[in-house]
Amino acid sequence: MYDVIIAGAGIAGMSAAWYLQQAGKRILLLDAHKCGQGTSWAAAGMLAPVNELEFQEVEVLQAGVASLELWHQWAREFDFLTLNTTGTLDIALGVEDIPYLQRVFAFQQQLGLQVQWLEGEALQTLEPALSRNIPAAVHSRTDIQLEHREFLPHFADHLRQAGVDLREHCPLHSWTLAEDGTVQVQAGEHSFTASQLLLATGSAPLPGTAAPVRIYPIRGQMISVAPPAGGPLVHHNVRIRSKTYGYAYLAPKPTRIILGSTTEEMGQDTRLTAGGMMDILRKCYHAVPGIYDLNVLETWSGLRPATLSRHPVLDALPGTPQVFVLNGLYRHGILLGPLMGRAAAQLMTTGHRLPAVAGFTLAN
Ligand SMILES: Cc1cc2nc3c(=O)[nH]c(=O)nc-3n(C[C@H](O)[C@H](O)[C@H](O)COP(=O)(O)OP(=O)(O)OC[C@H]3O[C@@H](n4cnc5c(N)ncnc54)[C@H](O)[C@@H]3O)c2cc1C
Repeated sequence: MYDVIIAGAGIAGMSAAWYLQQAGKRILLLDAHKCGQGTSWAAAGMLAPVNELEFQEVEVLQAGVASLELWHQWAREFDFLTLNTTGTLDIALGVEDIPYLQRVFAFQQQLGLQVQWLEGEALQTLEPALSRNIPAAVHSRTDIQLEHREFLPHFADHLRQAGVDLREHCPLHSWTLAEDGTVQVQAGEHSFTASQLLLATGSAPLPGTAAPVRIYPIRGQMISVAPPAGGPLVHHNVRIRSKTYGYAYLAPKPTRIILGSTTEEMGQDTRLTAGGMMDILRKCYHAVPGIYDLNVLETWSGLRPATLSRHPVLDALPGTPQVFVLNGLYRHGILLGPLMGRAAAQLMTTGHRLPAVAGFTLAN
């Protein structure tokens, strides 16, 4: 008998497990495969609410800013977590992209965000790897990043040491409510009982009653290259905004530079395409020509779990106050992980919603 069973050990489920465990709950955390190796593994590890801001996404921005603060708190708390705080450069790929970047910059300033407009020598001095053809950029000092592939396994160990019962290769098949109000869960070859159930299964399709909300998987293809032998090539997250070619980014980590990404609605299809790879490489090469001779380390793709509104969802299921869903973290899930986990723990233990997630209900 557990207090809470969590299905799905990605950043969302792991973070919820952490905060629920801190609240004194006995937790069973199940993953169908290996903990932390779903979409969370596929990500770029950017914690960049300012840079990711789109005009219609102010609510997600505010949640992102709140979650960023929790990442800093985690860095003080967890000695295995290192944050890279160099910041993000949001670049115009060509002169035709300047007006749009200016509008974004004005919007960021209007919202009181810490951003700086850079051009010419000032931009080159800050990030010498950028092509001299890059006409302008917005520098966000508060946007940061981490190597999430280092963090996630350590976080899993930390959860285990804190007393969370973490079981891998144990997929949730179904759940039912017993007469006494407890939740009976069928997972792997086992049957478990708990007072509450949290479904945090990301973009994976779930059977029957276990699928309370429609999730649209949005494929993102990725490439990583090895940094040059002499040291890092790029120091900042570089995000490319091009009206002609679309978006892309470079996210430098200690032992790899991640180049991403596509945004494609392809169902559960995770295959890579020549066009996807070409789009990423073309944009990244225009921004940072020095990637040309770097060795390719890996190619992969991941499925961002999105709702129709593209907002996250955290809620109890209608008519079933013991069963909750935490999903739809879409393209911000690493950033939003701490906040959504904390909010889930708060909702499940007190019935109250953190203000930062007020709008992330099943009704929205
Ligand atoms: C290419 C790409 C780049 C990205 N870059 C960033 C970024 O830079 N910054 C950022 O903030 N976000 C980024 N994201 C988004 C982020 O990765 C996701 O929003 C986040 O990982 C979602 O976390 P999750 O825990 O909901 O899902 P997941 O990490 O997928 O975790 C869900 C888990 O549930 C398990 N599961 C599935 N079905 C079952 C079942 N029946 N029973 C038990 N377990 C089950 C899975 O095995 C999986 O481990 C990116 C995403 C992609 C694809």
